[in-house]
Amino acid sequence: MITTAAMLMSGHGVSQGLVCAPVARLTPPATTDPEEAPGDNPAHEVQRVREALAQVARQLTAAAADGGVAGAILQAAAAMAQDPALLQAAAGHIGQGSPTAHSVTLAIDAYCRQLRELGGYMADRVTDLEDIRNRAIALLLDVPLPGIPQPGGPFVLVAHDLSPADTAHLATSDAVALLTEAGGPTSHTAILSRSLGLPAVVGCHEAARLTDGTPVILDGRTGTVEVHPTPQRLHQARQQSQATPQHQTFGPGRTADGHGIALLTNIGTAADAARAAAADTEGVGLFRTEFLFLNRREAPTADEQTEAYTQVFRNFAGRPITVRTLDAGSDKPLPFLRLPDEENPAPGIRGLRTARLQPDALATQLSALAAAQHHTGAQLKVMAPMVSTPNEAAHFADLARSHGLDTVGVMIEVPAAALRAGDIIRHVDFVSIGTNDLAQYVMAADRTHHAVADLLDLWQPAVLSLVAQVGRAAADLGRPAGLCGEAAADPLLAAVLAGLQMSSLSMATPAVATVRDQLARLTMQQCQEMASAALDASDPDQARTAVQKAISQFS
Ligand code: PEP
Ligand code: MG
Repeated sequence: MITTAAMLMSGHGVSQGLVCAPVARLTPPATTDPEEAPGDNPAHEVQRVREALAQVARQLTAAAADGGVAGAILQAAAAMAQDPALLQAAAGHIGQGSPTAHSVTLAIDAYCRQLRELGGYMADRVTDLEDIRNRAIALLLDVPLPGIPQPGGPFVLVAHDLSPADTAHLATSDAVALLTEAGGPTSHTAILSRSLGLPAVVGCHEAARLTDGTPVILDGRTGTVEVHPTPQRLHQARQQSQATPQHQTFGPGRTADGHGIALLTNIGTAADAARAAAADTEGVGLFRTEFLFLNRREAPTADEQTEAYTQVFRNFAGRPITVRTLDAGSDKPLPFLRLPDEENPAPGIRGLRTARLQPDALATQLSALAAAQHHTGAQLKVMAPMVSTPNEAAHFADLARSHGLDTVGVMIEVPAAALRAGDIIRHVDFVSIGTNDLAQYVMAADRTHHAVADLLDLWQPAVLSLVAQVGRAAADLGRPAGLCGEAAADPLLAAVLAGLQMSSLSMATPAVATVRDQLARLTMQQCQEMASAALDASDPDQARTAVQKAISQFS
């Protein structure tokens, strides 16, 4: 139990910014206990379930009042909650002596199984039914509703960790910062917080002790969380957080002596695309297409994908957009691909490797991308994730070109691909380094595991050595090598990456302006000196210190 005395917690700061607000925890769905004593009066228990389902329907109707596509879906879900068959099934279990809340679980889970078997549109309704189940159970057990809390004002969202699905409604919530017990610098929470411009601290185990309403000052730069700050500290921090940075540069990224380094953005959803399109950037360096289809149990058709890509492409007329084919598997499961469970999924079937089991999914996506390019005239580049060998790169390039896509690349995120970058680049028009996964595989450190987050420090010299190797190989062949991992969003590191011959850097939209300012203050020669200093270091802290020292000597 937290006392009201001020105290300091720390984790990894992964998205800059200072926020003062009370915390509210992400509420996990309650589970029901089959061993709980059943109610004395079955008729009364059935009435409780009826009222709970009616209450769920009212909640969903109220949420639907906002209108739009989400409104129509919520209204349909409200109707499902009132379906008499659901109540009847739960009543049946109560009649057989099951505890009340568990009867709802049994009834709704049976429907979910049937819908999954039916497939198609019906299978996609499973998520709605599960939401109805979770809400009804929370009401019956008198525990908070699951999901992103609504404490009625700005709050710091605290969770053990956040999955991509948990965060679907984050952008429209009052969350002003994120704090997780698990996760490292390249976890989903880190990626998401940067794209939303929300300050974030991850890998802070002590956050497990925070209770709702506790005031904190969270600093996403230092990774610190001050719990129950004094009024003086609050006043000071509020003033600091209101100071908005003034940017001095605009337009294309370039060093002080005019070397261009394209500054691009990473997007995953239509909302990201709209934010990125409005910003001063040179285009999209990474469109994570799997984020469009995370909750889908049935494969999106070619027409549906064409429509989704067309909408995104229209935002970027006149600017290049690099689309990554589905990076499914491991920490980004796509239920519709029906990939088998694996003991060790990170080096298993993910990214391009999913095409070994599901070649049609890749072919459908490539034809949808070609169709969307045809409709919009987009300056489209297409790349595959998780490529390990020159043969895989050649095969992907042939396949993409056979669909009419003419600018084809691959991601370099497997050490083998970095080591043999020259052999890979020969087959493609460009490569893009994914340092999040490259670090995971070079350092043999699970990117979702907080206990090894230090090994995934974006400044690891071993990772930078491989980036340097790829930069050299690409320069020798006269082809572009960009970088789209989280490392690009760190302004100091971005200068190092420019010195390692990266032709473009792609990052969350809010980071672009600061990176552009930083590059504009340095010549290419200085970036190269900073890169040498980082490569000569033996650990990330030493690399950072050496680069800071180098930069202080330039001015
Ligand atoms: C990466 O691995 O660096 C990358 C950009 O891809 P993702 O984070 O989506 O795996
Ligand atoms: Mg990756």
